[in-house]
Amino acid sequence: MGYVGAMVHLLSAALAFALDAPTAPTAAILPPPQVLTARTGFLAWAATHPPEPHPEPAYHFAEDVWAALAPAVATMPGRVQAFELGRSTIDQPIWGFEVHEAGQPPAPRKLLVFANIHALEWVPTEAALAFLQDLLADPPEGVDVTVVPILNPDGRYKVEDDLRAGRNVYRRGNWANVDLNRDFAVNREAEAVWKAVIPGRYTTSPEPLSQPETRALDALAAAERFDAAVSLHAFGGFIYYPWAGRWKRAEDWHELHTLGLAMQAGMDAHAYRPRQLSRWGFFFRGQGMELDHLYGRYGTRAFLVETTRSGLNPFRGDLRTYFRWYNPRDPAPHARSVAGMLRALTTALGDGLG
Ligand SMILES: [Zn+2]
Repeated sequence: MGYVGAMVHLLSAALAFALDAPTAPTAAILPPPQVLTARTGFLAWAATHPPEPHPEPAYHFAEDVWAALAPAVATMPGRVQAFELGRSTIDQPIWGFEVHEAGQPPAPRKLLVFANIHALEWVPTEAALAFLQDLLADPPEGVDVTVVPILNPDGRYKVEDDLRAGRNVYRRGNWANVDLNRDFAVNREAEAVWKAVIPGRYTTSPEPLSQPETRALDALAAAERFDAAVSLHAFGGFIYYPWAGRWKRAEDWHELHTLGLAMQAGMDAHAYRPRQLSRWGFFFRGQGMELDHLYGRYGTRAFLVETTRSGLNPFRGDLRTYFRWYNPRDPAPHARSVAGMLRALTTALGDGLG
């Protein structure tokens, strides 16, 4: 065979290989169209909302969160899928990320983790992001995990705006200043005796699920029927389980407590302890909370985790700064420890606990 003949032979072999090789994913592993749309939607959002310098470099502003996740969403579509739970009052997407081992059928168990329902509570977002990155590097077995790093993007936006402008404002709610964690539908009515004694302590929003963020979370919970869910807050250092709105024990509080102990065991030193939320203090009841809603309406084993014991450092004058009440100067050790707790819960679920 001469030189030309050899080239033709090589080219035809290459062509045969190219024709034989799959040129596109097979139907079985091709994501459905809405997933493709969500992926390009998220990547477009991240590209048009790039990170900018800000006054809390130890924390991720929303744009930093999207920038941290965009490469994985772009390059590992089989492992992580971005999707929109819904839109906030000012039309910001509420982004969710589902982690699933590529090429595997849906896992038998489902876990939901969401953060930053309260505007000033940012360690939760840091922990949710650390957990997501841990899952992307080492996907869980037997559990599909959905993470929502920022459930309240409008409240978040206001706090970011305050920080950039150097304003010190106490913020908890969403765009309409509604406390989203008093807007859920289960256990909204205070037990009569306490309501009469201290009415101001038992406030809820005007109507159940009156806000776009709570409706989005409810729709996701209804569609997915998660086995377990964790809502990340600050501060307190506890792992709470239902009920929040009534003193009575939950029917399966032993199982809830057992999962809580598994979560505690996944943490570093000074691990948070599990307990029923309404038994936090004799007078405390939380009406219309996510915890009772997810557990009471969908049977989801729900937890409310109060991350950190406080961001306050009285020796640095932090008492005057609302942001510092919730957010220590270095969130990284807290985020890592809470990510360890969430990984322990994921493993417990995968092992059939709960
Ligand atoms: Zn909170």
